[in-house]
Amino acid sequence: MIDIRYFSDNLKILYNDTSVLFEKISIEIVDNFEDDSFGDTSEVMGSQSINNNEVIIKIHENWNNEYVISHELLHAYFIGQNYPDHIYHGKFNESIRTLMIARQSIYNTVLHKLIIREQQRREINIDEELNQQIQNILLTNVAEIKKDSMVNPGLVLKLFDLLVLYDFRKEEFEKFLIETCPREYKFAKRLANICLQNEYDNPFKTRQIIVKVFKKFDLILKELGLPVLHLNKWIEIGFVPRKYQLNSSLENTFFIEETIISDMTAYRLISKVDDQLSYVVAKTHYKLDEMRKMLLEDFYKIFNIKYTLS
Ligand SMILES: [Zn+2]
Repeated sequence: MIDIRYFSDNLKILYNDTSVLFEKISIEIVDNFEDDSFGDTSEVMGSQSINNNEVIIKIHENWNNEYVISHELLHAYFIGQNYPDHIYHGKFNESIRTLMIARQSIYNTVLHKLIIREQQRREINIDEELNQQIQNILLTNVAEIKKDSMVNPGLVLKLFDLLVLYDFRKEEFEKFLIETCPREYKFAKRLANICLQNEYDNPFKTRQIIVKVFKKFDLILKELGLPVLHLNKWIEIGFVPRKYQLNSSLENTFFIEETIISDMTAYRLISKVDDQLSYVVAKTHYKLDEMRKMLLEDFYKIFNIKYTLS
Protein backbone atom coordinates (compact mmCIF):
# COMPACT_ATOMS: atom_id res chain seq x y z
CA MET A 1 0.00 0.00 0.00
CA ILE A 2 1.11 3.54 -0.67
CA ASP A 3 0.90 6.08 2.12
CA ILE A 4 -0.50 9.30 0.71
CA ARG A 5 1.01 11.36 3.53
CA TYR A 6 4.25 11.29 1.55
CA PHE A 7 2.66 12.71 -1.59
CA SER A 8 3.26 16.31 -2.64
CA ASP A 9 0.41 18.72 -1.87
CA ASN A 10 -0.70 18.82 -5.50
CA LEU A 11 -0.87 15.04 -5.71
CA LYS A 12 -2.83 14.92 -2.44
CA ILE A 13 -5.36 17.33 -3.93
CA LEU A 14 -5.74 15.12 -7.01
CA TYR A 15 -6.09 12.06 -4.76
CA ASN A 16 -8.84 13.80 -2.78
CA ASP A 17 -10.60 15.06 -5.92
CA THR A 18 -10.64 11.48 -7.24
CA SER A 19 -11.67 9.99 -3.88
CA VAL A 20 -14.92 11.93 -3.74
CA LEU A 21 -15.99 10.35 -7.04
CA PHE A 22 -15.65 6.77 -5.79
CA GLU A 23 -16.28 4.75 -2.66
CA LYS A 24 -12.67 3.74 -2.22
CA ILE A 25 -9.25 4.02 -3.83
CA SER A 26 -6.50 1.53 -3.17
CA ILE A 27 -3.00 1.96 -4.50
CA GLU A 28 -0.60 -0.93 -4.27
CA ILE A 29 2.93 -1.59 -5.38
CA VAL A 30 3.50 -4.72 -7.44
CA ASP A 31 6.61 -6.33 -8.84
CA ASN A 32 4.89 -7.55 -11.97
CA PHE A 33 1.59 -7.31 -13.80
CA GLU A 34 -0.59 -10.31 -14.46
CA ASP A 35 -1.49 -11.24 -17.96
CA ASP A 36 -4.81 -9.44 -17.86
CA SER A 37 -3.28 -5.97 -17.98
CA PHE A 38 -2.63 -5.05 -21.58
CA GLY A 39 -0.09 -2.33 -21.19
CA ASP A 40 0.49 0.71 -23.27
CA THR A 41 3.49 2.95 -22.84
CA SER A 42 2.37 4.11 -19.44
CA GLU A 43 0.35 1.15 -18.27
CA VAL A 44 3.34 -1.15 -17.98
CA MET A 45 4.36 1.24 -15.22
CA GLY A 46 0.94 1.23 -13.66
CA SER A 47 -2.63 0.11 -14.20
CA GLN A 48 -6.02 1.00 -12.87
CA SER A 49 -9.37 -0.69 -12.82
CA ILE A 50 -12.72 0.15 -11.33
CA ASN A 51 -14.78 -2.50 -9.63
CA ASN A 52 -18.05 -1.78 -7.81
CA ASN A 53 -17.14 1.88 -7.44
CA GLU A 54 -13.72 1.02 -6.03
CA VAL A 55 -10.60 2.17 -7.86
CA ILE A 56 -7.72 -0.28 -7.78
CA ILE A 57 -4.41 1.18 -8.84
CA LYS A 58 -1.28 -0.91 -9.22
CA ILE A 59 2.09 0.73 -9.54
CA HIS A 60 5.18 -1.16 -10.65
CA GLU A 61 7.83 -0.97 -7.95
CA ASN A 62 10.32 0.58 -10.38
CA TRP A 63 7.88 3.35 -11.23
CA ASN A 64 6.63 4.41 -7.83
CA ASN A 65 6.66 8.13 -8.53
CA GLU A 66 4.21 11.02 -8.81
CA TYR A 67 4.15 10.96 -12.61
CA VAL A 68 2.82 7.39 -12.74
CA ILE A 69 0.58 7.67 -9.67
CA SER A 70 -1.07 10.87 -10.91
CA HIS A 71 -1.42 9.33 -14.39
CA GLU A 72 -3.34 6.34 -13.06
CA LEU A 73 -5.42 8.47 -10.70
CA LEU A 74 -6.40 10.69 -13.63
CA HIS A 75 -7.62 7.71 -15.69
CA ALA A 76 -10.04 7.02 -12.81
CA TYR A 77 -10.76 10.71 -12.29
CA PHE A 78 -12.03 11.15 -15.87
CA ILE A 79 -14.23 8.06 -15.65
CA GLY A 80 -15.56 9.45 -12.36
CA GLN A 81 -16.40 12.64 -14.26
CA ASN A 82 -18.52 10.51 -16.61
CA TYR A 83 -16.03 10.39 -19.44
CA PRO A 84 -16.69 7.18 -21.39
CA ASP A 85 -15.09 3.93 -20.30
CA HIS A 86 -14.35 1.03 -22.67
CA ILE A 87 -15.79 -2.39 -22.00
CA TYR A 88 -15.48 -5.73 -23.73
CA HIS A 89 -18.23 -8.14 -22.70
CA GLY A 90 -17.16 -11.46 -24.11
CA LYS A 91 -14.88 -14.01 -22.54
CA PHE A 92 -11.18 -13.58 -22.97
CA ASN A 93 -9.25 -16.06 -25.04
CA GLU A 94 -6.07 -15.87 -27.07
CA SER A 95 -7.90 -15.32 -30.36
CA ILE A 96 -9.05 -11.89 -29.28
CA ARG A 97 -5.75 -10.78 -27.80
CA THR A 98 -5.12 -8.27 -30.61
CA LEU A 99 -8.60 -6.82 -30.17
CA MET A 100 -8.04 -6.41 -26.43
CA ILE A 101 -4.66 -4.76 -26.86
CA ALA A 102 -5.97 -2.40 -29.54
CA ARG A 103 -9.02 -1.34 -27.53
CA GLN A 104 -6.96 -0.67 -24.41
CA SER A 105 -4.21 1.10 -26.25
CA ILE A 106 -6.46 3.33 -28.37
CA TYR A 107 -8.73 4.27 -25.49
CA ASN A 108 -5.78 5.09 -23.24
CA THR A 109 -4.03 7.19 -25.85
CA VAL A 110 -7.12 9.32 -26.52
CA LEU A 111 -7.39 9.95 -22.77
CA HIS A 112 -3.65 10.61 -22.43
CA LYS A 113 -4.02 13.96 -24.14
CA LEU A 114 -6.40 15.01 -21.34
CA ILE A 115 -4.28 13.40 -18.63
CA ILE A 116 -1.03 15.12 -19.46
CA ARG A 117 -2.81 18.47 -19.74
CA GLU A 118 -4.42 17.92 -16.34
CA GLN A 119 -1.07 16.98 -14.79
CA GLN A 120 0.34 20.25 -16.08
CA ARG A 121 -2.67 22.28 -14.95
CA ARG A 122 -2.38 20.81 -11.47
CA GLU A 123 1.37 21.48 -11.48
CA ILE A 124 2.27 17.91 -10.66
CA ASN A 125 5.97 17.38 -11.08
CA ILE A 126 6.36 15.21 -14.19
CA ASP A 127 9.45 16.64 -15.88
CA GLU A 128 11.99 14.26 -14.46
CA GLU A 129 10.00 11.21 -15.51
CA LEU A 130 9.29 12.66 -18.93
CA ASN A 131 13.00 13.22 -19.48
CA GLN A 132 13.55 9.58 -18.62
CA GLN A 133 10.74 8.43 -20.92
CA ILE A 134 12.08 10.40 -23.85
CA GLN A 135 15.58 9.07 -23.20
CA ASN A 136 14.11 5.56 -23.30
CA ILE A 137 12.56 6.23 -26.70
CA LEU A 138 15.86 7.42 -28.07
CA LEU A 139 17.64 4.36 -26.70
CA THR A 140 15.22 1.95 -28.41
CA ASN A 141 17.08 -0.79 -30.14
CA VAL A 142 16.81 0.20 -33.78
CA ALA A 143 18.05 -3.13 -35.15
CA GLU A 144 15.21 -4.80 -33.29
CA ILE A 145 12.61 -2.66 -35.05
CA LYS A 146 14.11 -2.87 -38.52
CA LYS A 147 14.23 -6.66 -38.77
CA ASP A 148 10.47 -6.78 -39.33
CA SER A 149 9.65 -6.59 -43.01
CA MET A 150 5.93 -6.05 -42.41
CA VAL A 151 4.38 -2.98 -40.85
CA ASN A 152 3.83 -3.82 -37.20
CA PRO A 153 0.37 -2.64 -36.03
CA GLY A 154 1.41 -2.96 -32.37
CA LEU A 155 4.26 -0.58 -33.01
CA VAL A 156 1.88 1.78 -34.84
CA LEU A 157 -0.21 1.95 -31.66
CA LYS A 158 2.84 2.51 -29.51
CA LEU A 159 4.02 5.39 -31.70
CA PHE A 160 0.48 6.79 -31.71
CA ASP A 161 0.64 6.92 -27.93
CA LEU A 162 4.06 8.60 -27.88
CA LEU A 163 2.94 11.21 -30.40
CA VAL A 164 -0.15 12.12 -28.38
CA LEU A 165 1.25 11.79 -24.87
CA TYR A 166 4.49 13.66 -25.45
CA ASP A 167 3.28 16.01 -28.19
CA PHE A 168 4.54 19.10 -26.38
CA ARG A 169 8.09 17.69 -26.50
CA LYS A 170 7.93 16.01 -29.90
CA GLU A 171 10.88 17.94 -31.35
CA GLU A 172 13.09 15.85 -29.05
CA PHE A 173 12.12 12.46 -30.51
CA GLU A 174 9.88 12.74 -33.61
CA LYS A 175 12.80 12.85 -36.04
CA PHE A 176 14.18 9.68 -34.45
CA LEU A 177 10.86 7.90 -35.00
CA ILE A 178 10.66 9.01 -38.62
CA GLU A 179 14.16 7.67 -39.25
CA THR A 180 13.85 4.37 -37.37
CA CYS A 181 10.34 3.28 -38.28
CA PRO A 182 9.09 5.48 -41.13
CA ARG A 183 6.23 3.18 -42.16
CA GLU A 184 4.79 2.78 -38.68
CA TYR A 185 5.30 6.47 -38.06
CA LYS A 186 3.20 7.38 -41.10
CA PHE A 187 0.21 5.36 -39.87
CA ALA A 188 0.66 6.46 -36.25
CA LYS A 189 0.69 10.09 -37.35
CA ARG A 190 -2.69 9.62 -39.05
CA LEU A 191 -4.17 8.35 -35.79
CA ALA A 192 -2.43 11.01 -33.72
CA ASN A 193 -3.74 13.79 -35.94
CA ILE A 194 -7.30 12.86 -34.96
CA CYS A 195 -6.40 13.57 -31.33
CA LEU A 196 -4.08 16.50 -31.88
CA GLN A 197 -6.08 18.42 -34.48
CA ASN A 198 -9.36 18.24 -32.58
CA GLU A 199 -10.19 19.81 -29.27
CA TYR A 200 -11.98 17.51 -26.84
CA ASP A 201 -12.51 18.44 -23.25
CA ASN A 202 -15.85 16.87 -22.39
CA PRO A 203 -17.35 13.36 -22.41
CA PHE A 204 -19.34 13.90 -25.64
CA LYS A 205 -16.38 15.03 -27.75
CA THR A 206 -14.03 12.50 -26.16
CA ARG A 207 -16.40 9.71 -27.14
CA GLN A 208 -16.46 11.01 -30.71
CA ILE A 209 -12.67 10.93 -30.88
CA ILE A 210 -12.45 7.36 -29.52
CA VAL A 211 -14.99 6.22 -32.12
CA LYS A 212 -13.08 7.99 -34.91
CA VAL A 213 -9.75 6.41 -33.93
CA PHE A 214 -11.37 2.94 -33.67
CA LYS A 215 -12.61 3.35 -37.24
CA LYS A 216 -9.37 4.78 -38.56
CA PHE A 217 -7.35 1.93 -37.04
CA ASP A 218 -9.56 -0.59 -38.80
CA LEU A 219 -8.99 1.27 -42.07
CA ILE A 220 -5.24 1.07 -41.50
CA LEU A 221 -5.44 -2.69 -40.87
CA LYS A 222 -7.44 -3.05 -44.08
CA GLU A 223 -4.89 -1.02 -45.99
CA LEU A 224 -2.16 -3.30 -44.64
CA GLY A 225 -4.08 -6.37 -45.75
CA LEU A 226 -4.59 -7.50 -42.15
CA PRO A 227 -7.82 -8.76 -40.55
CA VAL A 228 -10.05 -5.90 -39.45
CA LEU A 229 -10.92 -5.87 -35.72
CA HIS A 230 -14.35 -4.15 -35.83
CA LEU A 231 -13.63 -2.31 -32.59
CA ASN A 232 -16.84 -0.29 -33.05
CA LYS A 233 -18.83 -3.48 -32.99
CA TRP A 234 -17.16 -5.25 -30.04
CA ILE A 235 -16.13 -2.56 -27.60
CA GLU A 236 -18.81 -0.75 -25.65
CA ILE A 237 -18.31 3.00 -25.38
CA GLY A 238 -21.11 4.55 -23.32
CA PHE A 239 -23.41 6.96 -25.11
CA VAL A 240 -23.52 10.64 -24.19
CA PRO A 241 -27.10 11.73 -24.93
CA ARG A 242 -28.49 15.12 -25.76
CA LYS A 243 -31.29 16.21 -23.46
CA TYR A 244 -34.09 15.78 -26.00
CA GLN A 245 -33.05 12.15 -26.59
CA LEU A 246 -33.96 11.22 -23.00
CA ASN A 247 -37.64 11.55 -23.83
CA SER A 248 -37.38 9.75 -27.10
CA SER A 249 -37.72 6.01 -27.57
CA LEU A 250 -34.59 3.89 -27.84
CA GLU A 251 -35.25 2.96 -31.45
CA ASN A 252 -34.81 6.59 -32.50
CA THR A 253 -31.24 6.60 -31.26
CA PHE A 254 -30.13 2.97 -31.41
CA PHE A 255 -30.32 -0.19 -33.43
CA ILE A 256 -31.20 -2.88 -30.89
CA GLU A 257 -30.16 -6.48 -31.36
CA GLU A 258 -30.71 -9.55 -29.24
CA THR A 259 -27.53 -11.53 -28.86
CA ILE A 260 -25.71 -14.08 -26.71
CA ILE A 261 -22.64 -12.89 -24.87
CA SER A 262 -20.72 -15.17 -22.53
CA ASP A 263 -23.70 -17.59 -22.30
CA MET A 264 -26.03 -14.73 -21.38
CA THR A 265 -28.85 -13.46 -23.56
CA ALA A 266 -28.40 -9.75 -23.92
CA TYR A 267 -29.43 -6.68 -25.88
CA ARG A 268 -26.84 -4.69 -27.77
CA LEU A 269 -27.61 -1.02 -28.41
CA ILE A 270 -25.71 0.44 -31.35
CA SER A 271 -25.78 4.16 -31.90
CA LYS A 272 -27.45 5.05 -35.21
CA VAL A 273 -25.32 8.16 -35.65
CA ASP A 274 -21.91 6.50 -35.65
CA ASP A 275 -22.50 2.73 -35.56
CA GLN A 276 -20.75 2.47 -32.20
CA LEU A 277 -21.77 -0.22 -29.69
CA SER A 278 -23.06 1.90 -26.82
CA TYR A 279 -24.62 -0.47 -24.30
CA VAL A 280 -24.90 -4.17 -23.62
CA VAL A 281 -27.53 -5.14 -21.07
CA ALA A 282 -28.73 -8.53 -19.89
CA LYS A 283 -32.10 -9.48 -21.32
CA THR A 284 -34.83 -9.06 -18.74
CA HIS A 285 -38.56 -9.63 -19.11
CA TYR A 286 -38.68 -6.76 -21.63
CA LYS A 287 -39.24 -8.09 -25.11
CA LEU A 288 -37.28 -6.69 -28.03
CA ASP A 289 -40.24 -4.64 -29.18
CA GLU A 290 -40.76 -3.20 -25.70
CA MET A 291 -37.10 -2.26 -25.61
CA ARG A 292 -37.43 -0.40 -28.89
CA LYS A 293 -40.32 1.68 -27.53
CA MET A 294 -38.70 2.32 -24.14
CA LEU A 295 -37.73 5.95 -23.44
CA LEU A 296 -34.00 6.48 -23.05
CA GLU A 297 -34.50 8.05 -19.62
CA ASP A 298 -36.44 4.98 -18.44
CA PHE A 299 -33.78 2.71 -19.90
CA TYR A 300 -31.12 4.39 -17.75
CA LYS A 301 -33.29 4.01 -14.65
CA ILE A 302 -34.34 0.42 -15.27
CA PHE A 303 -30.82 -0.80 -16.03
CA ASN A 304 -29.20 1.43 -13.44
CA ILE A 305 -26.82 3.09 -15.89
CA LYS A 306 -24.98 6.31 -15.06
CA TYR A 307 -24.90 8.88 -17.84
CA THR A 308 -24.07 12.48 -18.47
CA LEU A 309 -25.72 14.86 -20.92
CA SER A 310 -23.77 16.38 -23.80
ZN1 LIG B 1 -2.57 5.68 -19.34
